[in-house]
Amino acid sequence: MTDTSDILVVGAGIVGVSTAIWLQRSGAAVTLIDRDEPGSATSYGNAGILATASIIPVPTPGILLKVPGMLFNNKKPLFLRLSQVPRLLPFFYKYLRNSNKYSVSKISNALSYILHDSVEQHFEIAKGTKAEKYITTDDLIVGYADKKAYESDKYSWDLKEKHGHKFSILDQRHLAKYDKNLENKFGFAVQCMNHGSIIDPGAYIGELFKSFLNNGGKFLKSDVKDFLFDGSNNLIGLVTNSGDITCNKAVLTTGAWSAGLAKILGARIPLVSERGYHVEYHSPNIKLKAPVMISDSKFIIHSMQGRLRCAGLVEFGGLSDVTSYKPFELIENKIKTLFPELKYKRKTRWMGHRPSTTDSLPVISVSPKYKNVWLGYGHQHIGLSAGPKTGKLLSEIILSKNTNHDLSIFSANRDGLID
Ligand SMILES: Cc1cc2nc3c(=O)[nH]c(=O)nc-3n(C[C@H](O)[C@H](O)[C@H](O)COP(=O)(O)OP(=O)(O)OC[C@H]3O[C@@H](n4cnc5c(N)ncnc54)[C@H](O)[C@@H]3O)c2cc1C
Repeated sequence: MTDTSDILVVGAGIVGVSTAIWLQRSGAAVTLIDRDEPGSATSYGNAGILATASIIPVPTPGILLKVPGMLFNNKKPLFLRLSQVPRLLPFFYKYLRNSNKYSVSKISNALSYILHDSVEQHFEIAKGTKAEKYITTDDLIVGYADKKAYESDKYSWDLKEKHGHKFSILDQRHLAKYDKNLENKFGFAVQCMNHGSIIDPGAYIGELFKSFLNNGGKFLKSDVKDFLFDGSNNLIGLVTNSGDITCNKAVLTTGAWSAGLAKILGARIPLVSERGYHVEYHSPNIKLKAPVMISDSKFIIHSMQGRLRCAGLVEFGGLSDVTSYKPFELIENKIKTLFPELKYKRKTRWMGHRPSTTDSLPVISVSPKYKNVWLGYGHQHIGLSAGPKTGKLLSEIILSKNTNHDLSIFSANRDGLID
């Protein structure tokens, strides 16, 4: 048994590393645990957008009519592995029931709270570390085939506007003026202001992690299998593949792999992996002025350090590491059509697991059963953006500081249906 009086943070993605840093800044002794290198799972391969306006969940009014057409068309950005369907049906029942206007409005309010200051939150957590150099302030361009396609998203744009997000409409001529690389690529576009980006998410989290170690934090490379409790419902330790570890407090930030461990801690909210894909073109001859979301293909093209990363899509395919070839084909064919002039030295492919809940909201909460364990996972498409703020909120509730905000909508006790 390894003895420690520390707070143990299990899972070192952007959420876990941020939580560990905020706890450390408040004076706590913290040990991070991960079975892998910090920042090497989902937080590594995302599109890198600090998505302040991504407050609209995937299920919105009308989605039920669109889904069948999307599933049976390889050019559409939604994929489903048939072997997963029986396991996913209870999830889909709640997930799709949250697509009504009332639920979407409540979800958007909650997402707005954790996203509106993402850029500032990243600058704050990275301040004085080498991670700072990976943060940029950017626009996000959303490119549409034509104005009609833009108008079909009007519901989402209106809701974003209601939350105070600033946009400019760019016709073809103005888009070409904005970025010569985008000339004749889209019939219509929206320039979203007040966004940011991380130009190398893996390296960025690596630097945040180094700063945590330099300030006295500890790291254990272990796979956490279970928890140890005393007779009074207090957590007293973790069971890992390298032995048992004692602790005073623990935080579960294991992203898409959280369901099993969170269930032991009393969480009710359903969680699945919403897989996403990226293709990277290394040493490209194109450098975009700002990241671009290709609206009909639902992936983002982002000029990151030394490469063009094209990342996004949705595949409900479970937690296995086996990838599907169709999402890669969709990205690569779209890029060939849109940027036939693209030249590069080599291409790499990646698949990752977004942690997605039925109400598209993360869990930021104390365990419903054990008073000295907290949970922070389920950040679906926005975890890179919301990671630092989640870490700060968790550190505040763990150390009993005032958060001045009602976090009940993020409770682990909810059943994932907004009503
Ligand atoms: C293609 C794609 C594009 C995306 N684009 C964006 C974007 O532009 N902007 C944005 O904000 N978000 C984006 N996201 C979402 C974002 O990447 C995730 O929400 C976020 O990375 C989740 O972070 P996390 O720390 O919760 O999980 P992770 O980064 O997955 O970290 C979880 C960690 O827990 C560890 N772990 C799991 N189980 C155990 C265990 N039992 N014992 C020990 N360790 C364990 C894992 O090894 C891992 O390191 C995207 C996601 C994808 C897939």
